Amino acid sequence: MTATQTGSQTAKIPGQVRVGVLGGGQLGRMLGLAGVPLGMQFTFFDPSPEASAAEVGDLIVGNYDDDAALLRLCDAVDVVTFEFENVPVRAAELVASRRPLWPPVSTLHVAQDRVREKECFNLLGIPTAPFAAVDSLDELRDAVTRIGLPGILKTRTLGYDGKGQAMLRTEDDVVKAWDAVGGVPLVYEGFVNFTRELSILAVRGRDGVVVTYPLVENSHSEGILRLSVAPAPAVSDAVAEAAAALATRILDHLWYVGLLAIELFETADGLVANEMAPRVHNSGHWTIEGAETSQFENHLRAVCDLPLGDTATRGHAAMLNVIGTAPTPSAILHADAAAHVHLYGKREAPRRKIGHVTVRGNDANDVATRVSAIRRVLANTTPSA
Ligand code: AMP
Repeated sequence: MTATQTGSQTAKIPGQVRVGVLGGGQLGRMLGLAGVPLGMQFTFFDPSPEASAAEVGDLIVGNYDDDAALLRLCDAVDVVTFEFENVPVRAAELVASRRPLWPPVSTLHVAQDRVREKECFNLLGIPTAPFAAVDSLDELRDAVTRIGLPGILKTRTLGYDGKGQAMLRTEDDVVKAWDAVGGVPLVYEGFVNFTRELSILAVRGRDGVVVTYPLVENSHSEGILRLSVAPAPAVSDAVAEAAAALATRILDHLWYVGLLAIELFETADGLVANEMAPRVHNSGHWTIEGAETSQFENHLRAVCDLPLGDTATRGHAAMLNVIGTAPTPSAILHADAAAHVHLYGKREAPRRKIGHVTVRGNDANDVATRVSAIRRVLANTTPSA
């Protein structure tokens, strides 16, 4: 694909920081929406001319192996970040050779591979599911013998929203799972008997200061995040402290700058880390209205070497993803005039995240009632013609 550039923000305005973002999806768009009030200008880099972030900045359309387009991004900006954790490491290294790039490229290398990620957690004393790298059917059989059943076979790289995964319940599932996802590097994980899924969002500034948001409770269905509730209800002080401590350990170990999200399982024996995302995260969208400083603003503050903002919650919040089909803002606001609607300007497609809705209130029950009302609207939405 030929690289093209759209928009008009080519000249640098004195005092403005020009931020480049690898990836131009909804996360980039929300970074832009948070950074423009801070006087930042954005240039996004994305293989698709339909990138949803293009509405809030310039867009360079190019593939990640298009060095000339990547260098054009470098020429247009002062600092670069990414909103997509599968940016090829080689592309990120090229950009980092020309401009400050945060989070560090080394975090991509770790987070793009489920085995390296789990090894990193374990190195830091953070529990994970038992796991084994699997490259053949025989290795899968060995892993199942060692780790036991049930378990999940996952692609080591490029998996998201439950894609590239197969559940193994009995010996009969071994070959079926291999047939379903085999042929690429895999990891077999023992099934974690969790009571719920939580995530922690943490930010580290260029000066090494770390701030964390309260734990979030996440509900998934078909491998896709549906609902985040913040702060997560009934979190003990011990669990809250353990989560903040493990996040800080990871951030310090990686010399991280920016926002990192860590997905956790809560179990009877404590927290178990599932995976991390070296970027702003879907389970942090509630922070736009539900925290003193949003995850997007704090990520940009870190990347641009500004003091980090307060992560305290503003009451209780819940975020529902809009998936597949988009309701009209009118339908949502007629159900709850205080709801915050975010549509990403993306085409409708099955399983695609095309928006989210946040409700905020002073107590958890009020928020739960309003979540039910929004859920009904989302359930009754049919695809647009
Ligand atoms: P992931 O792509 O690793 O985030 O997995 C998608 C979803 O599958 C998670 O949100 C969990 O609900 C479930 N899951 C993943 N790994 C495990 C595991 N080792 N044990 C139990 N459930 C898991």
